[in-house]
Amino acid sequence: MTATIIDGKAFAANVREKVAGHVARLKEENDITPGLAVVLVGEDPASQVYVRSKGKQTVEVGMNSFEHKLDADTAEEDLLALIDQLNNDPAVHGILVQLPLPGHLNEDLVINSIDPAKDVDGFHISNVGLLGTGQKSMVPCTPLGCLMMLRDHHGSLSGLNAVVVGRSNIVGKPMANLLLRDSCTVTIAHSRTKDIEEVCKQADILVAAVGRAEMITGDWVKPGATVIDVGINRIDAPEKGEGKTRLVGDCHFDSCAEVAGAITPVPGGVGPMTIACLLANTLTACCRANGLTEPEGLTA
Ligand code: NDP
Repeated sequence: MTATIIDGKAFAANVREKVAGHVARLKEENDITPGLAVVLVGEDPASQVYVRSKGKQTVEVGMNSFEHKLDADTAEEDLLALIDQLNNDPAVHGILVQLPLPGHLNEDLVINSIDPAKDVDGFHISNVGLLGTGQKSMVPCTPLGCLMMLRDHHGSLSGLNAVVVGRSNIVGKPMANLLLRDSCTVTIAHSRTKDIEEVCKQADILVAAVGRAEMITGDWVKPGATVIDVGINRIDAPEKGEGKTRLVGDCHFDSCAEVAGAITPVPGGVGPMTIACLLANTLTACCRANGLTEPEGLTA
């Protein structure tokens, strides 16, 4: 293996430490405690794990955590009423509605009812528009985490060829916009892209956000490229015992690491950065709400 491993776990710990330092100063100098409200509708097991983890880390950095757990059959108007209440609560600086929502709830309507200034997931249509036009916005957490690691590794990204595989609203598109804003030459590839392997091979920065286990192999990677693997896929692991599974990314780690200059592992790469960036976004939202200087290095 030749690639440098980008340690997302350590990077995320460092981001949380910076956030905690800012939170302590906000409390001491301004008597303000940032607050994050997380709304979970239903009992999806994965969502429950995420929400627990978010709540725990929010408290660990010294912020207030407000958890709202609603029944799976909650009426849309009741959910919207809760969001309205949180929008108007000065103790709440960030609001996150855990996705996916149960089928009877209109996700777009719900997300767009969040005050854009408190939309720490960056999914509100106003924030999407602001990001797309290069203006100050709340930035989706996963792409923000990727950008932070890329900036740290490369310094300037200006002029680099970036290929983002995946065009989802939560990862692919915002990632491409962020890279464009940092003056990369950006290509977005997706399921209809022709000669995708050749497209990927042109990338100095290759971001994989596909959701297909180990799809990208070393022969798709330009020698020396930086590979950011967003994918989280659970596959069978008979070598660990009957019925056992393990997590892998969208990139085949071993073959990509032979060719790449740097690579994020799965697990321990992009994953830990997502919640760290949620905390960073909550801090940013709190500073903006109170007319205070935003923390350096924790926004896009
Ligand atoms: P989506 O399913 O919303 O989007 C997947 C994208 O990949 C689509 O644009 C799709 O193209 C494209 N795609 C699918 N198959 C192929 C293919 N064979 N070749 C090229 N492109 C393809 O996924 P998300 O963006 O939500 O998530 C992507 C991955 O990232 C998942 O593994 C998810 O678990 C992970 N993830 C990880 C996070 C983290 O914290 N680390 C956070 C969020 C997601 P098309 O549009 O043409 O269908």
